Amino acid sequence: MALQILITNDDGILAPGLSALVRAASAFGDLHIVAPATAQSATAHSITLMQPIMCQQVELPGGMVGYSVEGRPADCVKLAITELMPVQPDLILSGINAGGNFGVNVLYSGTVAAAIEGALYKIPSIAFSLTIHEKIDFDYAQRNAQQVMEMLLANDVLDEPCVLNVNIPACEIGQPKGVKVVRQTTQAWADRFERRIDPRGRLYFWFDGEFVDGDDIEEDTDAKAVKHGYISITTLNADLTDHAHLAHLQEKLDQGT
Ligand code: MN
Repeated sequence: MALQILITNDDGILAPGLSALVRAASAFGDLHIVAPATAQSATAHSITLMQPIMCQQVELPGGMVGYSVEGRPADCVKLAITELMPVQPDLILSGINAGGNFGVNVLYSGTVAAAIEGALYKIPSIAFSLTIHEKIDFDYAQRNAQQVMEMLLANDVLDEPCVLNVNIPACEIGQPKGVKVVRQTTQAWADRFERRIDPRGRLYFWFDGEFVDGDDIEEDTDAKAVKHGYISITTLNADLTDHAHLAHLQEKLDQGT
């Protein structure tokens, strides 16, 4: 039986990045699209509890039919697996996000959360994001996402549960120089808010943070790889336990008693 592939995203079911991912994945199996009705960027791993989750079939550009869900990316994955798909997915793909999701951004990203949600069901899952400077070229992103999938499938990487976070460097850099398997940087972003006054004289803020893209990015990280024109692949884990500190904490408490 062909590989059953669930496709979702956080930019909404009509986002061009989702169409690009559909085109990239179409050679690899049967596609099932379940994605948010509206833009859900930076909604992280939230789910909808206090209201109904409206859901309807829609025809997408290119003719495929998918489920449009008035919920979060994680809602889409849960619904796809438990209700909407006729079979269990063998693989979950999320993206292609308009904007990079590396470093601490993975904690805010709905694109990445959808992939982590898949892993909670023990299904191999990949989040794809395209970093952006000035231009967005989803045909370029599609070609590169397709090559990454080919490589992963050819090397049996997707035969077991995993979360892979893939970032494709911005298209202005030219074709990626290659693929780097790297850890997630923990370097902080520069948080900044625009301070404004609305037409009725009320104070409001608009978030305008950005990654500090200096020359001192940590080596062997996702941020460094994409900055230098490589596709980054990072393995993620839903377990946020700090294993090193766990032992340290126990040791301290043992000493205290
Ligand atoms: Mn997004």
